Amino acid sequence: MSLNPPIFFKEDKDSTKELQNTSLTKEEPLQNLCLASQEVLQKAQQSGRAKCLKCGGSRMFYCYTCYVPVETVPIEQIPVVKLPLKIDIIKHPHETDGKSTAAHAKLLAPEDVNLYTYPCIPEYEERKHEIVLVFPGPNSVSVEDISLHLHKHIPSNALYSNKNDSPDKLPSKRQKMEVEENRDPEDSNRRDSNLLKKVVFIDSTWNQTHKIITDERLQGLLQVELKTRKTCFWRHQKGKPDTFLSTIEAIYYFLVDYHTAVLKEKYKGQYDNLMFFYSFMYQLIKKAKSSSGKQQENSAINL
Ligand SMILES: [Zn+2]
Repeated sequence: MSLNPPIFFKEDKDSTKELQNTSLTKEEPLQNLCLASQEVLQKAQQSGRAKCLKCGGSRMFYCYTCYVPVETVPIEQIPVVKLPLKIDIIKHPHETDGKSTAAHAKLLAPEDVNLYTYPCIPEYEERKHEIVLVFPGPNSVSVEDISLHLHKHIPSNALYSNKNDSPDKLPSKRQKMEVEENRDPEDSNRRDSNLLKKVVFIDSTWNQTHKIITDERLQGLLQVELKTRKTCFWRHQKGKPDTFLSTIEAIYYFLVDYHTAVLKEKYKGQYDNLMFFYSFMYQLIKKAKSSSGKQQENSAINL
């Protein structure tokens, strides 16, 4: 991946208060994450671009078309993040792969993340009681209210099949009995909070998103809007507010919110390694910017 000259977001010192409690505060974005050692990335960066073992392409850190690390980055030194639900990322066909952060999610949570290139996307119609689409809009709800709204989408024959990932499989008699035996109120609460099985993200520049979001296969999915958070993305899109997050930022923030607001568990950095590549690249670009003489602007970021 090429690290293009950075375009930094505009610092807005007045808007930092609400972010104090998150890992990504404005003064020191990406500083307090619980990350695996990034030494492997430091070494890879020093030796420069390397070969993708799958397609042979010359890449930095990882191959953004094969979703594997390059040969100088041993895969066992890349952290694996286990996610509490499945994630689909729909990419716009004209989105430049090397500029997208969607690959980070696939590399770091390979078991739980799938990428699709529009218009080849899965059929969600049968499962809209357990899937949400992260996209802001007039009807979008907060992460906190997901379970409440998903209930309205539950078809009567799906009540017992929440534990199955496949929509086609009906629960066996035994499973059904187990479910019925466990029907105490506390358990039912737990089931409610676990209604959600899959989250869909769109990876595209905001100007290209329209075609995807209006696709009929995505209509009827509950839309979720993230809390206001500001991007650190170095390729922040010109003219757009800094609340437009990069894909990996959106996934990360969604999961942090889901963990605390829906699963009701204390967040202890479980998903921070999703920012493994992102935070390293962010630091690299910060340093590059500093050495290119734009000291004044950079010192605002070091606050
Ligand atoms: Zn490759």
